[in-house]
Amino acid sequence: MAEISEMLPGYNCGECGHKQCRDYADFVSRDGDVSKCPYLEQERFADTKAEIVEFLSTHRVVEEKIGKDKVEDIPLQCKGCEESIIGVIDRRRADFSLGPIPGEPSCREDLFPFGRSIDIGPGDVLRYRPLGCPVIHFARVMKYSKGIATVHLAGPRHLLGDKNFQYKDVGICMVTSFEGFIQKGRVPDVGETVKFLPSHCMMQKVHSGVIVHSEGKRLRIEGIDLKVW
Ligand code: SF4
Repeated sequence: MAEISEMLPGYNCGECGHKQCRDYADFVSRDGDVSKCPYLEQERFADTKAEIVEFLSTHRVVEEKIGKDKVEDIPLQCKGCEESIIGVIDRRRADFSLGPIPGEPSCREDLFPFGRSIDIGPGDVLRYRPLGCPVIHFARVMKYSKGIATVHLAGPRHLLGDKNFQYKDVGICMVTSFEGFIQKGRVPDVGETVKFLPSHCMMQKVHSGVIVHSEGKRLRIEGIDLKVW
């Protein structure tokens, strides 16, 4: 954990049993035992030790089961700041998570299919792979205008139970925008570049984009990119 690493003495001497301060910070963020670094026991580091202990009271990392055999480290809720929003697949920190507009099944996405030979209309289910994402998606079309389909994500989880469902395969699509409501996290300004976690994302991967419109917690984000670092 970077914050703890920065607070440690920085001698990288290994006396704590870890190769460098960074490794001990990682251990401390889970275990909470700050007594292994001998320097923190010295008078001159008394304030630093107290600071680390205080920080750990709200920022410990816990292991959380996210699948059958998979365990992921998730930071505990921080009482001193916003609740941490962390992508599962890449562990990036997001500014907020984005859920559906009230009454809708998922965030709205605008899709630009690269292959546009197929007729698309409201109510159609599209099978597609978003550019940059390895996962096949199914989404139901709300409207289609000027080559852009506005959709709600519809599966595959829910649709696969229905053997009769029909879909149109539109191949790779560029996801040009998201529209939804902030579920957790801070409210950004218009024009701001943000990192966000769409609540319906099957990989729970942090996305980036630019806020082009906001009404309270309702946002429209364009310039969507999955390359976040
Ligand atoms: S003993 Fe302290 S200073 Fe030395 S590596 Fe461990 S944490 Fe860093």
